Amino acid sequence: MNTPDEMLSALAGEYAAYRLLATLTSSLSKKRRSLEALEHTYRECVRAVVGTRAAGRVEEASAWRRVQEFARAQRDEMRMWISLREQRFHAAWEALVSAQYAAHFAARWLPDFAPAQDIDEHLAAVERTIFPKQRFLSPGFISDESQAECTLCHAVAGECDHIPGEIYAGEVAARNIRGIVAMRELSLVDNPANKHARVFRYENMDTLTLERIGSASPDRSPAGVGTRIARRGWYAKRRPVRRAEPIST
Ligand SMILES: [Zn+2]
Repeated sequence: MNTPDEMLSALAGEYAAYRLLATLTSSLSKKRRSLEALEHTYRECVRAVVGTRAAGRVEEASAWRRVQEFARAQRDEMRMWISLREQRFHAAWEALVSAQYAAHFAARWLPDFAPAQDIDEHLAAVERTIFPKQRFLSPGFISDESQAECTLCHAVAGECDHIPGEIYAGEVAARNIRGIVAMRELSLVDNPANKHARVFRYENMDTLTLERIGSASPDRSPAGVGTRIARRGWYAKRRPVRRAEPIST
């Protein structure tokens, strides 16, 4: 593809076929082939961002960055459907959340591109219908504002013209919070800033399969890589106990 607009129009042309395949019942091998193609498209966008920025074509770099985010939403959604078919439910959740974040940015940055609007709405519906309602942990920190910085120019956050979440020459501005002085609270919430920070279980019940952990369920959840806190908790309980001697009860 020569231009971001050409890539967008190709993606728009393929979107109906993608939407048929990005479903639970469609062939797993077809989904895997589609994922390879989506990965290829995503990498092509990343290379285009880097190349055009290096050549000083900053507007074009930003345009490619918007397409890249849409490509990432499609790729990660397909990963989710594949993980669901493989009964890797935690991995499916992680892919869903990653796809949702990408779709959210793509929908905002490409307001006139219908597939970006569609995938954003679609993924919200998928979360409601495919997964049990999840709850999340949200930490509240006290930080030193003078140490928060803009990720693009490293000025003190708020003192430069970069707006977090906007694209400048192909790069997304963000606010890097540093200098955390204290942790104020840890809340259990329904609508967190970070949906990766999920409660994995209540008592002994897995929050995705609703099975008791340790029961003979064939469903594997969570699998793959989770948040560090959650993973530590999970493996601490799941690691098989090596028993050298019979245990009397
Ligand atoms: Zn800045």
